[in-house]
Amino acid sequence: MSFGKLAIIGLGLIGSSIGHAAKRGKVAGEIVGFDASEDVRARSAKLGFTDRVASTLEDAVKNADLVILATPVGAYKSLAESIAAHLKPGAILSDVGSVKGAVARDISPSVPKGVHFIPAHPIAGTEFSGPEAGFASLFDGRWTILTPPPGADEKAVADVRQFWEGLGAQVDVMDIAHHDLVLAMTSHVPHLIAYNIVGTAHDLEQVTEGEVIKYSASGFRDFTRIAASDPTMWRDVFLNNREAVLEVLGRFNEDLSRLQRWVRDGNGDALFDLFTQTRAIRRGIITAGQDTASPNFGRDKRSDGQEK
Ligand code: NAP
Repeated sequence: MSFGKLAIIGLGLIGSSIGHAAKRGKVAGEIVGFDASEDVRARSAKLGFTDRVASTLEDAVKNADLVILATPVGAYKSLAESIAAHLKPGAILSDVGSVKGAVARDISPSVPKGVHFIPAHPIAGTEFSGPEAGFASLFDGRWTILTPPPGADEKAVADVRQFWEGLGAQVDVMDIAHHDLVLAMTSHVPHLIAYNIVGTAHDLEQVTEGEVIKYSASGFRDFTRIAASDPTMWRDVFLNNREAVLEVLGRFNEDLSRLQRWVRDGNGDALFDLFTQTRAIRRGIITAGQDTASPNFGRDKRSDGQEK
């Protein structure tokens, strides 16, 4: 199936990737983009991942069959209020927000009767942002989770499922609260840990910043990739998934204290057993096709044979 007009609001990493992938998959007759920033609009028009970049929000969503909000989550409420009167009856309103409880809270009250609200979250991304960061294969083989509200129109859910499959993704449907807990574990708390450890390295007085950078290949740099993610997007994630993040963080702190004790007590057997279990999780991710089996995440070798 193909949508007549697709409107993408917010032309950063995710919005531009949707445009590229929608063109590649021919899942929409016309793709129209809009971004609050005039500069982003001008750059996006040159990149060509939409058929047209609208200069107003109203023009972008008018007569659209599918509208996808792809801005940071903190902007959703006012965006939903602004576009409500311009959505055509039967249109589908969706999003890509990394949290779903707050998105339902902020958007649902503005959804006009006759418009189907089917939230979505593609579990794919990079540490880059902006329209230049997008690419057509971002969603290939990755999961997109739909969190339709109870009683949502089944055809609209099926249409959004097919849309994401057309972009290369696999699709799951999940309850909102469960989504927020699962993502707190697999995405939000890992980001918080990365932000924290990079911050600690920055503040540590006995080790210079020069040394941290020079010797980063020993593990630290893999945290820095995550900690380089967009500050606005991640601020909004933590402001909007507070409960689930605090729940997982509580559990994390207990487990970290246990590890601390094992290190202090020299409990090598306990450490070895845990590290053996965690290795198996990495193997499971590779078997499931969610990462490469190549050493060092498949990073290229430098010309002298060293890892980049
Ligand atoms: P991004 O690259 O920073 O792009 C967001 C774009 O939205 C920016 O161009 C921003 O403009 C624009 N924007 C902000 N407020 C707006 C408004 N009121 N109206 C129109 N445009 C507005 O961010 P992203 O990584 O694509 O993330 C977008 C959404 O995807 C977020 O909700 C995030 O939770 C979700 N998501 C992200 C990832 C990821 O890994 N990055 C993965 C899955 C889902 P300015 O820069 O001028 O503010």
